[in-house]
Amino acid sequence: MSLEGDIKLLTENIHLITREQAWHYRILPKHKSDNQYLFYCEESADLNNLSGEIEILLGVNVALEPIPNIHIAKLLSTYYIKDNSDSRANHILHQYDADDFLLNLISEAQSLKSSDIHIEKYESRCRVRIRIDGLMVERYLLHSDQYPALINKIKILSNLDIAEKRLPQDGRINFKHSDKQFDIRVSVLPTLHGEKVVLRLLSNDAADIDLNNLGFSANDMNSYLEGVKRPNGIILLSGPTGSGKTTTLYATLKLLNKETRNILTIEDPVEYTLEGINQVQLKESIGLTFSAALRTFLRQDPDVIMVGEIRDTETANMTIRAALTGHLVLSTIHTNSAWGTVSRLIDMKIPPFLVASTLNTTAAQRLIRLLCPHCKTNQVFTSDLYPKQFKPYKNLTSHFVANGCENCFYTGYKGRKAVYEVISIDHELALEIKNENMYIQNILKDRGVKSLAENAFALFEEGKTSLEEIYPLLFNY
Ligand SMILES: [Zn+2]
Repeated sequence: MSLEGDIKLLTENIHLITREQAWHYRILPKHKSDNQYLFYCEESADLNNLSGEIEILLGVNVALEPIPNIHIAKLLSTYYIKDNSDSRANHILHQYDADDFLLNLISEAQSLKSSDIHIEKYESRCRVRIRIDGLMVERYLLHSDQYPALINKIKILSNLDIAEKRLPQDGRINFKHSDKQFDIRVSVLPTLHGEKVVLRLLSNDAADIDLNNLGFSANDMNSYLEGVKRPNGIILLSGPTGSGKTTTLYATLKLLNKETRNILTIEDPVEYTLEGINQVQLKESIGLTFSAALRTFLRQDPDVIMVGEIRDTETANMTIRAALTGHLVLSTIHTNSAWGTVSRLIDMKIPPFLVASTLNTTAAQRLIRLLCPHCKTNQVFTSDLYPKQFKPYKNLTSHFVANGCENCFYTGYKGRKAVYEVISIDHELALEIKNENMYIQNILKDRGVKSLAENAFALFEEGKTSLEEIYPLLFNY
């Protein structure tokens, strides 16, 4: 048996280094103890230099065990294959200045349209990841000794207590860079090896948001706009956190934003500032809740009101009251389907007849990641890949799968699109609500209302997304 056949790397050790690091230094982790990592390396390697460099990189003592070059090559291809989960675009920093690093990091995250930056401290190093299209992507690894200056800088900018390292803290940074300006919400959480920092980038520029680019199909757009044009009633968007509801709300507000309308919003947080709209930031600690703001709004002669989220009975009641008194109210609610909002409101003790007389439009939405056009690959498709209960109306012979390349940070996906299910409430459906009939599938089918799953499936059929991405939705096809 050949040597590389005898070598088995332990899974827990494989993650000591990233794929890029393994290939760059042509090393493989053999053993880890408290104070030393042992790596296999090529026989031809300069042991002193190599161990020195890896020590700086990982912040631990490193020992090397040379084995034939050919074995290293084979083992690298076995244990550090290019797959979607383990491939990352790391930059290991040798030259480092905390101020510059933070500035570059935020600018980079902003230009990549990232929503969050995560700075995490582990035993010997600090990892910096950013969230792009909903997925975490590792961007930088720092040494342990580079981490304190970065945390302190962030704490100073967000007016947090530098000395406090045992309790969670929350703050805010108003970030100005060249001509850009936006808010960053800062959350600091003490963990085992140090404080984990999450920076949420709140883009203040809503210029790019446009109802036409979100992902509405032509039919869905028509029914949605019909609701938006009505002078009163509640337009409710449902979906889990991160399904893009807020973006749809802002796009709708932009459309409604006319000199002739008084628009008021209560939000948590205010993610974008819209010129011409009176936006209020929720502050529960001082009693500025969704329902309290709504009460005041009604005395402010509004035309359109946006409530960030209906999450309690009091807010639900105030929202209904606002709609009954002739206002158009936009809001979001946590349910899985468009029609589910009806039962959710009834669960919140709103009498069905009031839901029936105020609900104008209910829409569910999800964000679907789109396959990276640079690296998606076509494969043979068989229908046993679908969930068992799913019955496709058409057989596909091939499909596209995620791969991973430099363009998509090795995730296989690039960009996202929302899929919707829009139900416009008319007299017929209002009657169903009054009767608390939760089974209206036939009515929706007759009207040609497409479900979330059908709209998502269409993206898959067109080769724009993967089966994996829409799989959870197919259970409710
Ligand atoms: Zn790609």
